Amino acid sequence: MSERVLVAVAWPYANGPLHLGHIAGAYLPADIFARYHRLKGNEVLMVSGSDQHGTPITISAEQEGKKPGEIAAQYHQQFLDSWQRLGISFDLFTTTGTPNHARVAQDMFLTLLNKGYIYKSTMSQPYCPQCQRFLPDRYVEGTCPFCGSPRARGDQCDDCGRPMNPAELLNPRCRLCGTTPQFKDSEHFFLKLSAFQDRLSDWVGEQGHWRPNVYNLTQRYLKEGLKDRAITRDIDWGVPVPVDGFENKRIYVWFEAVIGYLSATKEWAKSSGGEERWRSFWQDDEAKSYYFIGKDNIPFHTIIWPAILMGYGGLNLPYDVPANEFLTIEGKKLSTSRNWAVWLPDYLSRYEPDPLRYLLSINMPESGDTDFSWREFVRRNNDELVATYGNLVNRVLTITYRNFNGCVPEHSKYSEIREYLESLDPRKDLGTTNILDDSSMNVIEDAKEFLFREAGDHLSKCEFRQALLNILLHAQETNRYLDNKSPWKAIKEDRQAAADSLYVALYAISCLKTALYPLLPFSSQKLHQLLGFDGDVQDGGWKPNPPSPGQKLLEPKPLFAKLDDKLIEEETARLGKA
Ligand SMILES: [Zn+2]
Ligand SMILES: [Zn+2]
Repeated sequence: MSERVLVAVAWPYANGPLHLGHIAGAYLPADIFARYHRLKGNEVLMVSGSDQHGTPITISAEQEGKKPGEIAAQYHQQFLDSWQRLGISFDLFTTTGTPNHARVAQDMFLTLLNKGYIYKSTMSQPYCPQCQRFLPDRYVEGTCPFCGSPRARGDQCDDCGRPMNPAELLNPRCRLCGTTPQFKDSEHFFLKLSAFQDRLSDWVGEQGHWRPNVYNLTQRYLKEGLKDRAITRDIDWGVPVPVDGFENKRIYVWFEAVIGYLSATKEWAKSSGGEERWRSFWQDDEAKSYYFIGKDNIPFHTIIWPAILMGYGGLNLPYDVPANEFLTIEGKKLSTSRNWAVWLPDYLSRYEPDPLRYLLSINMPESGDTDFSWREFVRRNNDELVATYGNLVNRVLTITYRNFNGCVPEHSKYSEIREYLESLDPRKDLGTTNILDDSSMNVIEDAKEFLFREAGDHLSKCEFRQALLNILLHAQETNRYLDNKSPWKAIKEDRQAAADSLYVALYAISCLKTALYPLLPFSSQKLHQLLGFDGDVQDGGWKPNPPSPGQKLLEPKPLFAKLDDKLIEEETARLGKA
């Protein structure tokens, strides 16, 4: 029976290019997960969009002398281009700037207001008498009271990393004009998080399948006790507050951005020709939702968003929040302001997507921070993708192509192999009658009984590193099989024996390409075509797809290109430069 899976992915701020921290943190794991479930034949909806609101956008706009909407539109286009080139397969990547999103966010706001989960109160806010406006946190700068840095902002000190509130800053000043701000009362709406303390505690207690880092951090927040939080701001860029007298205020970005998961599903439903289809992902108990985010976003997805959903009622709560830890770059904390980052558009302008997907998968920060280095990138590409997997594929295809007229050879027991692959009983029919020799049988059996089950088990639990390591073991095993059988020697004495072992090897690499498809979609699709299959790898499903004897192969070409050591120095020299 097919499952229904909502793959909800973090909304990047549309104020700058994506970097590898984003990709390792949320986008690559989400894509691997979605591709795996699509291969399984499950109903998958993968959505996200660019976050067009918030002060990160308005500040970038001021710096570049543009309107916030222009900045947001420019980076949104760049995101779409990056997804396509890296193979991040969103069903919909929209923005928070659509009328649909505003409507869904305002409906959420008004429903919670009517139910008493949102209330009005006043709070003291920094106000610039010179600019005659309230200042959002990021618009107040000053000296950090913890580390003395003169560049701290009202939301955070970048030098020591501590979160801040504007009243804590020493010598505060308006970032627009330098004037010392005053503090004035302003009326705002608050989300009554405290009302959800017990329900959230009970619900979180049942989520034993969450990653320990996600579970423990959430429990820590709950134990500290939930405080009500302001959900409107004195700004003019964002979703309007749907209440009279609040025309000059906007819904705070952290409240409306998470609602994007729901509004994007509704937008997808409308554009896919079934306006009510969003319900099957949000109101059906059988549907599961997975939220792929970085660790800095955990409480928004395990506490605040579930509280909003509980307050609204009738919508599915998150099933899992497989948040990743951070990716460091060459051993140092990634910093966009210091340009200590590898930018995705730069990477994609110079290299192929799969080597990056490979490195980030095998080094995915699933249970702790991991590091990206250019040296490791080159080494893993050359030693693992080119020399191990790529070489295996190239050897099998080249020998077959040259010696069997460019076609898949006929195995002497082809129909028995087919029968075994289609039967649900393990080994039974073939193993006991010794139709194949043991080593050939092991390769056929391992793919059928272990590769797909074990790798699939890891992928379904968001254990992407383990899945990849598991698949690579099967590649190594196939390599050993090929060395033992040496069809390049056998071909001279016993053509059928060479055909038999090459057929088994072709079967094995065909299985590998399917199992690797979620992780390395570009090279898998290329191999699919080299093996003479039509269409998309995804059409074959999550199972062995043995090539048919006589199937026409394409002329073999390497799956991966070797990279020059020179690039290590070139690329590391770019880091940290303005
Ligand atoms: Zn500081
Ligand atoms: Zn000012």
